[in-house]
Amino acid sequence: MEILADLHIGGTWVPGETGERFPVIDPSDSSVIAEFAVASRADALRAVDVAAAAFPAWRDTSPRDRAEVLRAAFELLREEREWMAELIIRENGKAYADAIGEADYAIEFFRWFSEEASRVGGDFRLAPRGDKRIVVSHEPIGVSLLVTPWNYPAAMATRKLAPALAAGCTTVLKPAMETPLTAAYVVDALQRAGVPDGVVNLVTPVETGPVVDAMLHHPAVRKLSFTGSTEVGRILLREAADQVISTSMELGGNAPFLVLPGADVDAAVEGAMVAKMRNGGSACTAANRFYVHSSLHEEFAAKLSEAMAAVSVGSGLDRSHGLGALVSLAERDKVASLVSTAVEEGATTRTGGKGSDMGAFYDPTVLVGVEHGSTITRHEIFGPVAALISYDDVDTAVEWANATEFGLIAYVYGEQSLALRVARRLESGMVGINRALLSDPAAPFGGVKQSGLGREGSSEGIHEFLETKYLGLDV
Ligand code: NAD
Repeated sequence: MEILADLHIGGTWVPGETGERFPVIDPSDSSVIAEFAVASRADALRAVDVAAAAFPAWRDTSPRDRAEVLRAAFELLREEREWMAELIIRENGKAYADAIGEADYAIEFFRWFSEEASRVGGDFRLAPRGDKRIVVSHEPIGVSLLVTPWNYPAAMATRKLAPALAAGCTTVLKPAMETPLTAAYVVDALQRAGVPDGVVNLVTPVETGPVVDAMLHHPAVRKLSFTGSTEVGRILLREAADQVISTSMELGGNAPFLVLPGADVDAAVEGAMVAKMRNGGSACTAANRFYVHSSLHEEFAAKLSEAMAAVSVGSGLDRSHGLGALVSLAERDKVASLVSTAVEEGATTRTGGKGSDMGAFYDPTVLVGVEHGSTITRHEIFGPVAALISYDDVDTAVEWANATEFGLIAYVYGEQSLALRVARRLESGMVGINRALLSDPAAPFGGVKQSGLGREGSSEGIHEFLETKYLGLDV
């Protein structure tokens, strides 16, 4: 299949008014895969104009018709999942198992929201005073700006596009500059599935901040759905405030992974490998801090180090590798720097601790003797590095787990009733109990504290793109 590398505005692929292009790099060998069109401020504002013009007709389609288009997108993408995975591997660097896993997860949002499109309910009741009927309906919010990160180039786009389209909104998608090719492919698939021109637009500005700011000040934009770092999320919340734009924010995490006294260590290690290594650790859901009860610490450290050391590292195009590249050399260097700081602060490397000079690879790494509160426990590692912290009593572990401004996800391994009691005390939007894989289009994904606002997926996801309307009827 052809690699698409232009802007998509009003149903047409266009190069952008300046004709400029930026390179998309394969992080496994630093080769240039494509030269992608640069969107100017004028291109981006034109995309919003087009989305605004397309809104009334799309809003007025029936929920069933929107559902059919989304279902068609699901069927089409399911047929082409290997191509989607290849694009993800090429521009993001991840291993094949992670790429095909992402493709399946991403595609599933179209099936889930095709089912949700016709399930949006409302309310009809007699007012308590008996003087009127209260009718509540949910209407599409309007033109929605969708800004996505590089770590899940397909799934972060479909997790927003599917509910927005199901709700009857029109969209402008702004993917990360590192990974625009998968986003362009998803937009093309939607067009082939029958989404009308202007309903889904794609822009890739190089001057990201000012151009996104300009779009957020376009009077037609009514929704911002953002996934990315908390730092950028804060900037966008401020910008969105000027026009009181509704925001959904899926931000950073600093996930604790608690191994409770009496836990099954083999099960905990198996879970740790998933919670840490899915997507090579470049996941907002990645376990960042492992709090392991002192009675189990040595056994857990030994078994986890053995499992980590057994993971083979290399390009995702070779399916035998369990760990691919990080998204860029800069990300590899950031991970390396966090590890060397941890060692300076007293941690010991049990396995790994090395990057590659040949590409953006970093070896699976286990650090022991990490102090709670040290640098690595306060930063999102976003790479294949497990930091182990020993604790003596469960109350301390809970206190340490909660000692962060983030609250996206947490993991607890241990006997079920103790694990449940601990889970209830964790300040987190999601908790995996003796389970490390939680993402599911049917479940509400999102965080508390500075990890975000709102939820994606589940029946809640479509409501992020709907507004409540109250009609009062005379009795
Ligand atoms: P990022 O915040 O740097 O970038 C995210 C998006 O915002 C990109 O499209 C980027 O181009 C754009 N952007 C950057 N600066 C901007 C600005 N000033 N104005 C407007 N847009 C701007 O994040 P990233 O490095 O691409 O992704 C990693 C981060 O994303 C991590 O913090 C991770 O935890 C988070 N993340 C969260 C979730 C979640 O669901 N909570 C999922 C995936 C990733």
